[in-house]
Amino acid sequence: MIKSAVEAILRSPALPFAVHELAWLSPCDVPFCAEVRGMCESNRCGLYNKTWTCPPGVGDWETLRDECRSYTYALVFTTKHVLEDDFDFEGITNSGAVHKQLDRAIAEGLKDAGIAHHLYSAGGCNLCKQCTYPSAPCRFPDRVHRSMEACGIDVGALARACNLRYNNGPQTVTYFSMIVF
Ligand code: SF4
Repeated sequence: MIKSAVEAILRSPALPFAVHELAWLSPCDVPFCAEVRGMCESNRCGLYNKTWTCPPGVGDWETLRDECRSYTYALVFTTKHVLEDDFDFEGITNSGAVHKQLDRAIAEGLKDAGIAHHLYSAGGCNLCKQCTYPSAPCRFPDRVHRSMEACGIDVGALARACNLRYNNGPQTVTYFSMIVF
């Protein structure tokens, strides 16, 4: 019953952007690994040590893995965005912002329905213009979404585990999020 309620929220026409694909799996089957966290720590995206949702502020990945696996259900969903070409970096950035907007709308829908959950997002938090990290606590701890990679989730392996397309073809970008509850 609760799974149908969650799925209905993700398929709601009232959302600001449509979910492309979704799939269920057990939280125990979500693939975590130290190597993904290591890539985060190499600071390829430039957010290492910049927000509470990225390492090291997000916390120890093994603790985050155990927390994720303590939930009953996991639902992975994607958004697909069309780019002007494969070098449309502005389009990639804007698509990421749209995906995060959708994350927040879904989280609000779950909250309104009284469904306690945790949502893992694509990339670090962008809620505030300037993150409080590390000098003060997060301003919105009940709205913040941790980065999947920062938690050590191998998104490519996750896509394979739940049979979702990691890549939707040329001139597109695909973003992943996951809800556990
Ligand atoms: S909500 Fe604001 S303070 Fe909290 S992690 Fe996001 S940007 Fe930082």
